[in-house]
Amino acid sequence: MVVVGAGIAGLACAGELAAAGIPVGVRERGRVPGGRMASRRFDGRPADLGAAYFTVDDPDFAEVVDRWRRTGLARQWTDAFQVYESTGRRAETGPMRWSAPTGLRSLVTDLASQLPVTTDRLVSMVEPGPRVDGEPVEAVVLAMPGPQAAWLLDPGLGTALAAAQAQRWQPALAVVLRYTERCWDDFAGAFVNDHPVLSSVWDDGDRRGDRAPVLVAHTTAEFAQSHLPQPTSAAGAGEAAVRELLGLPKAEHVFVHRWTYARPERTPAGTVPYHLDDDNIGLAGDAFGKPRVQTAWRSGRDLGRALAARLS
Ligand SMILES: Cc1cc2nc3c(=O)[nH]c(=O)nc-3n(C[C@H](O)[C@H](O)[C@H](O)COP(=O)(O)OP(=O)(O)OC[C@H]3O[C@@H](n4cnc5c(N)ncnc54)[C@H](O)[C@@H]3O)c2cc1C
Repeated sequence: MVVVGAGIAGLACAGELAAAGIPVGVRERGRVPGGRMASRRFDGRPADLGAAYFTVDDPDFAEVVDRWRRTGLARQWTDAFQVYESTGRRAETGPMRWSAPTGLRSLVTDLASQLPVTTDRLVSMVEPGPRVDGEPVEAVVLAMPGPQAAWLLDPGLGTALAAAQAQRWQPALAVVLRYTERCWDDFAGAFVNDHPVLSSVWDDGDRRGDRAPVLVAHTTAEFAQSHLPQPTSAAGAGEAAVRELLGLPKAEHVFVHRWTYARPERTPAGTVPYHLDDDNIGLAGDAFGKPRVQTAWRSGRDLGRALAARLS
């Protein structure tokens, strides 16, 4: 069977199937696994472009995270952060946030390491049968945002198509700002409310643990929407917004990454955290709960279990 998408949901699903002895192949359109847990290297140093961190309260996910902690892939980062609002700034505490010293992508790469993942492989059609790009398979999992899954699904797969189309997604831009030296008081990260450009700003040097002078800002969906055709056009306004918010000098280098489908807008109600229908089409990802890394992992893992039970 085939899993399309080598984000954390697709790999959790494929891992479960492989563990149950079901032959599975993962196809990923990107050069490397990771999806929205993406890290990009700047002068050799990775910065996280997608998820800023992850939290853990599911006992099964906690076991996976503990293995990453023991092997040095993940570390507890902080439970304290700032909130900027029109009325000022305040400190808050919340659940422990986890980060990855070499970037969140390294965690997905770890899950992929034991699985047959084909990268640079864009899947373009899933038809009744099911067939993936014309090839008959026992079942297909589309582990990606609903709109991306909907592009692939033949209208003859109406149940899966309806489930994918029911998802509503919002865009975001990630703005990576590099400085010659750290020029801010340590703040770990900040949520920014009621701002026309920013939704959050993260200290990438702090979360990585190397104290590199790098910030990553995420924009509001509205701001991102107006720059989707040409995201680089957002660099000036993104940089200026962070400079003004934190009282910083101008950044030396600015890079903008576009997430057309960053976060699901609403969670479809359901008793299971995935979609699986009689056509043997599965959908998994963070739209089946709070839009979080843990939700995506859990969705993929649970769908893998359900498929393993059905196919074995
Ligand atoms: C800006 C931003 C900030 C975030 N912040 C946080 C946070 O702080 N904490 C948190 O827990 N979560 C956060 N998230 C959410 C988190 O990143 C996701 O929940 C999680 O990574 C989703 O994983 P996934 O496997 O479901 O989907 P994805 O990671 O999107 O994986 C889908 C994969 O499918 C591939 N694909 C798509 N179409 C095809 C095709 N046709 N053929 C082949 N491959 C295809 C894609 O290339 C991709 O690799 C954030 C996300 C974004 C974008």
